Amino acid sequence: MQQTKYIFVTGGVTSSLGKGIISASLAKLLQARGYSVTIQKLDPYLNVDPGTLTPYEHGECYVTEDGAETDLDLGHYERFLNTYTTQANNVTTGKIYQSVINRERRGDFLGKTVQVIPHITDEIKYRIKLLGSKKKFDMVITEIGGTAGDIESLPYIEAVRQLRYELGAGNSLVIHLTLVPYLAAAGELKTKPTQHSVKALLEAGVQPDILVLRTEKSLGDDIRNKVARFCNVEQESVIESIDVSTIYEVPMLMQKEGLDKTVLRKLGYPTDTEIKMNDWVDFVNKLKNPESEINIALIGKYTSLPDAYKSISEAFIHAGVANRIKVKLKMLNSETVTSENVSDLLGDAQGILVAPGFGERGVEGKVTAIKYARENDVPFFGICLGMQCSVIEFARNVLNLKEANTTEINVTTAEPVIDLMEGQKYVTDKGGTMRLGVYPCILKKNSKSFDAYRVSEISERHRHRYELNNRYLENLKANGMDAAGCNPDTNLVEIIEIPKHRWFVGVQFHPEYKSTVLNPHPLFVSFVKAAMDFSKTR
Ligand code: GLN
Repeated sequence: MQQTKYIFVTGGVTSSLGKGIISASLAKLLQARGYSVTIQKLDPYLNVDPGTLTPYEHGECYVTEDGAETDLDLGHYERFLNTYTTQANNVTTGKIYQSVINRERRGDFLGKTVQVIPHITDEIKYRIKLLGSKKKFDMVITEIGGTAGDIESLPYIEAVRQLRYELGAGNSLVIHLTLVPYLAAAGELKTKPTQHSVKALLEAGVQPDILVLRTEKSLGDDIRNKVARFCNVEQESVIESIDVSTIYEVPMLMQKEGLDKTVLRKLGYPTDTEIKMNDWVDFVNKLKNPESEINIALIGKYTSLPDAYKSISEAFIHAGVANRIKVKLKMLNSETVTSENVSDLLGDAQGILVAPGFGERGVEGKVTAIKYARENDVPFFGICLGMQCSVIEFARNVLNLKEANTTEINVTTAEPVIDLMEGQKYVTDKGGTMRLGVYPCILKKNSKSFDAYRVSEISERHRHRYELNNRYLENLKANGMDAAGCNPDTNLVEIIEIPKHRWFVGVQFHPEYKSTVLNPHPLFVSFVKAAMDFSKTR
């Protein structure tokens, strides 16, 4: 196999232009042409990983198979490519400094002054090349967080500059994503911000090879010409990225613009190879032409920032397409749900999902929403804290254990139906210490979950410290709440169900992380189907 080639994606002008989606779309196109590709995200903040960040800061924390707590862009990478990412696919400045400083303490640099250049940049280069080192990938796409000109991204840009030189001509390229704003008053698209942003990269010694321009209006030839001339790129390398209604259309848009071919040509690969995008195009067609629609209420406490529930929203898009239906997600802040307003708030929902979360805020609203779903036979899906709340609700209102709670909220509760896992009791550090990543789960044959997965052993990703307290299991079972899935090694209850209910499933794991365009998650598909069936009864 040839040497792995490296594609760097940087951003300019503003954040939130969609570098992650452009990277994932390019990777998708290259994969559809038969290349093996992976995507890596470099984040310029000092947290070692986003596990300790509130979702309000950077959106949801995504979890990989091997238990890395990562940036939400890795979710896009997996959803687009239908392949797994790993610990090595997300690197932060915190991680870089941590490993350099650990080595300094060990004495690895004895006698030397440890500096940003070369020690930090060397570590960055090492992390970038790590993914290519096993020769598993033809191409590694490295997305650099932040915006050109930011002080904190400078070491990354410097590492890219050095690496390009070390890798030699034809083995790497830089794609720079910028914004071409439309000034309504002038009636014009403006290229100056792009010129400045390329200048910022040039000052750091990096000439981009390809420019992707985000725009709301189509760029004419004159704009493409102008950008090419002022930014030293070929006209063919100026790619338009116009706003579209769904992120899943972006790969097709990039294909039309020839981004994949330009990349291949510049890296010395043939450009006349076959591209297999049929499944993808079919998915987008179905997505854009649903046969009907349903309302699903998502109850969580981070609802003011939709990115906080990114993987859940995307999983609903995949499951909607699988059912040929548009799922309209109504996000409801759990802190506003009370027993007085619950039927008004949830009356038009054909399905209720209670989201994952941490801490006390909003938990009572979640319990109230679950009571409504259980009593009114509305399809219910609880994820992680959502599942734990469904056990609390059932214990309080069916088992009549009024004090039932999780010890996350009340350490001294008389009825700890949800309790800290044994292995968590002596954990003091908060970072990276939850039960993370995949664990197996054995499904009970007669269950909604088994019907959905149609296999008896599954493996799902986790991120939690608390679990169902097995002391209550007999009582729960005797009164109508069943354990439909358990971990075979520890007996930890992974799934609860109420068999008498139309569709009531709570999962301790996070199914949303494993839903992709080509593999919609079975539980989401089944939940949406149940909500569709329920809508027909009303
Ligand atoms: N806070 C709960 C726990 O740690 C649930 C976590 C979650 O929803 N991801 O167990």
